[in-house]
Amino acid sequence: MSKITGKTKLLGIIGDPLKHSLSPVIHNAAISYLGVDYIYVPFPLKPKDLTTAIAGFSSIGIVGFNVTIPHKQAIIPFLSETTPTAQLVGAVNTVWRTKTGWKGTNTDIDGFLSPLQSLQRDWANLTPIILGNGGAARAVVVGLAQLGCLKIHVVGRDRQKLWQFAQSWKNTQLTATLRIYFWDELSEIIEETELLINTTPIGMFPNINDSPMESILFARMPENAIVYDLIYTPNPTQFLKNAQQQGLITIDGLEMLIQQGAVALQFWLQKTVPVDVMTQSLQDYLNLQ
Ligand code: NAP
Repeated sequence: MSKITGKTKLLGIIGDPLKHSLSPVIHNAAISYLGVDYIYVPFPLKPKDLTTAIAGFSSIGIVGFNVTIPHKQAIIPFLSETTPTAQLVGAVNTVWRTKTGWKGTNTDIDGFLSPLQSLQRDWANLTPIILGNGGAARAVVVGLAQLGCLKIHVVGRDRQKLWQFAQSWKNTQLTATLRIYFWDELSEIIEETELLINTTPIGMFPNINDSPMESILFARMPENAIVYDLIYTPNPTQFLKNAQQQGLITIDGLEMLIQQGAVALQFWLQKTVPVDVMTQSLQDYLNLQ
């Protein structure tokens, strides 16, 4: 790690809990490689302390910070400006200081899109299925619309939350049309999709044997289908293992995690960041666990 001096500038992440956050690992690896005078630290923060903390951040001159659960929406009233992408998602994960106050954006979309952008597909006609309708699903919806998808299926378990999710996009700039389904309807739509994305935490450590979808359903997907899991521990998840057994293309959550961080760091440092160094630091860290 670089030497901390009286001139070292502060970056960090707010959230609760933060013990398992891998952001300090990837950001400090990049900072160290670039030799810039910054440090990235975790700031565990309860919702009741958000107001005090943000006032404090202004006072002590923090340059920028990431925002994670449960503050991604709650942070918005504290910002003087948000990017159109953050407004569409309704959540902010990256904040930086401007002359007029804090500005926020959402780099989860950049992260999510990164592994898909190199694939040649007819995005307009491919009708992806999103499993889950929480915070990450919102970034996925906006990302898929940016990719060119015109119709998106969303599968959820809670009637009211699912309906609210669909309603929340009405009268927005979203260019895709959403249709909502319950889990027991998944088997009726699975054959149509070339892109299936898990945005639920099902299968995440320590519940590593769980999967959000029955393994027999993978056999009914088109043979060139892509199966994407936002989870990055374990790697691969049971969901992705089942898809691999069927010969489908799989994408795990690691690249999304690294790319959302890389884009955030670029905002703060205003320079190109070493994505390969960030990736290596994460792989080294996870291999040591
Ligand atoms: P969230 O806001 O809590 O949303 C989770 C969604 O999953 C909700 O729709 C929830 O349904 C659903 N769900 C949870 N347990 C379920 C179950 N047993 N059966 C059916 N549905 C279930 O969480 P999030 O922030 O979107 O994060 C979701 C996952 O994405 C996490 O595993 C997170 O680590 C991962 N993620 C990864 C990255 C990355 O960089 N790779 C970025 C963001 C998130 P209800 O609303 O009905 O409870």
